[in-house]
Amino acid sequence: MPLPKALVYAEHAVAGVAVLAGLDYVRRNGVWRALGGVVSSALAVVPGAKGAVHAQIEREVDAAVDEMFEEKEEASAVPRMTRIPDEGLPGAEVLRRLATLHRVLDPNPADGRMFAYSYALDGEEEHAGEDWHSPPADGASVTFKDATTRAFCMYMHSNGLNPSAFQSLRRLENEVVAMVADMVNAPASARGTVTTGGTESILMAVKAYRDKARKERGVARPNIVAPRTVHPAFEKAAHYFGVEVRHSAYDAAGSGRADADAAAALCDSNTVALVCSAPQYPHGATDPVEAFAAHARRLGLPLHVDACFGGFLSPWVERLGRPVPLWDFRVDGVTSISLDVHKYGYAPKGSSVVLFLSDEYRKYQMFAYGEWPGGLFVSPSMLGSRNGGTVASAWAALVCMGRDGYMRNARAIMETADYYVEQVGATPGMRLIGTPDIGAVSFTHDEVNVFAVADVMKQRHGWSLELQQGPDSFHCSLMPVHARDKEKFWNDMRDSIQAVRDDPSLAKKGSAAMYGSVGRIPDGGLVTDFLTTFMLKMFSS
Ligand SMILES: *Cc1c(COP(=O)(O)O)cnc(C)c1O
Repeated sequence: MPLPKALVYAEHAVAGVAVLAGLDYVRRNGVWRALGGVVSSALAVVPGAKGAVHAQIEREVDAAVDEMFEEKEEASAVPRMTRIPDEGLPGAEVLRRLATLHRVLDPNPADGRMFAYSYALDGEEEHAGEDWHSPPADGASVTFKDATTRAFCMYMHSNGLNPSAFQSLRRLENEVVAMVADMVNAPASARGTVTTGGTESILMAVKAYRDKARKERGVARPNIVAPRTVHPAFEKAAHYFGVEVRHSAYDAAGSGRADADAAAALCDSNTVALVCSAPQYPHGATDPVEAFAAHARRLGLPLHVDACFGGFLSPWVERLGRPVPLWDFRVDGVTSISLDVHKYGYAPKGSSVVLFLSDEYRKYQMFAYGEWPGGLFVSPSMLGSRNGGTVASAWAALVCMGRDGYMRNARAIMETADYYVEQVGATPGMRLIGTPDIGAVSFTHDEVNVFAVADVMKQRHGWSLELQQGPDSFHCSLMPVHARDKEKFWNDMRDSIQAVRDDPSLAKKGSAAMYGSVGRIPDGGLVTDFLTTFMLKMFSS
């Protein structure tokens, strides 16, 4: 059953892949054949057909989820908690249980075998102290990882909801925003907010632009125009806030970069903002921000640059003397930028920054309500209560890493990226997808099935590769930790390619079988049904 692997492989595409896998699962298990090609039309015209298909999808999802989570004895031995215990357990026992679940069920990003989710530094073992509140003893040496972890723990019970309550948090947040604004050459007018991640930063930008256009231009049916390669968080924001997304073209056969003219052509009087990425996630390609900005100025539209992925790399790559086209606030026309401190800023998960050119934009991000019997309410972002730990640890990350640290890590990443690019070129049949400008390298193989190769890489060599579609390809977000085993990665890659050449049946199993059916899914509505059902099951105890 290939579904489990699908989920291990895909980060941003988790949901999509699950759908595809599930539909294929359904298909290979006969149901699909029974329904045949009539599914789409049946759904539309036959009363009750949708219910029947739904019921079948539910059963298939159940079976798939059961198979996906292999029982591990040690984890099963930890008692399942479905009711708050009558008497609280001792803290030590609580931690022992968590440590077991974490060790047995989760990967360790510090192994350097993952290419998404966690941005692991090289040679940083976690060794957190026990008393989070006391400063370290004089002369004690504290690693970057410990500093950020301890900062998080020191502040995790504080709340950034009300800036007058925990006053150090207000100062730390303003300092994080100031340091980031300086890094991306923002003018003195720029203002920002620390959010919990790229998604929240993007939600806030879309909301602000929707509300700005509504207030200032009376736009009632808002749309944003964004290249097909932008992160799905824009889709999510649009879905939540009643905004249409118009997808513009990108150079799919070449650089992977977006076409600014195509984007401009999709703008109309209901457009509230243009969007592009620096760089986009799938291929690490940086969109032509200056061309987007020229259109934005001409059309009188705001331009959001999504730098969530590489915003903490590009400034240092530029200082390394590599050519990096302008993408930040130096470009006239850029009105907001999102950057994730929890990616190449190396902070613990839960921190990102959304920056606007000025409060003329940011004011539309705020939510204020004065009629509540519980008091006056105002909040800058999606959350109510805000864990102070995310702000404190973001601050600790920036201050502890320093420019020298960011430069050092950027150099290591770009050298690893160069090595990957060189190896792609030196591997017969392999080629790059898009231009790997910043952080990520994406590549495919024209002669063997890349999904089968990924299975061998995982099963034989322990590498968890990210898989992408359109075309079928690998995605590697490169972290500092990957420098260590880069030769081994490519030796293992060549071995895995050879294994698939030697045994073509591998291309008919596992991930390959699953992805092979992608193009054959007949009905978009069914895909969404499957997805939703799948997610509901995943989070049912
Ligand atoms: C990761 C990412 C996001 C979303 O960030 P989250 O922190 O996962 O919410 C948005 N845009 C790009 C380009 C990204 O890589």
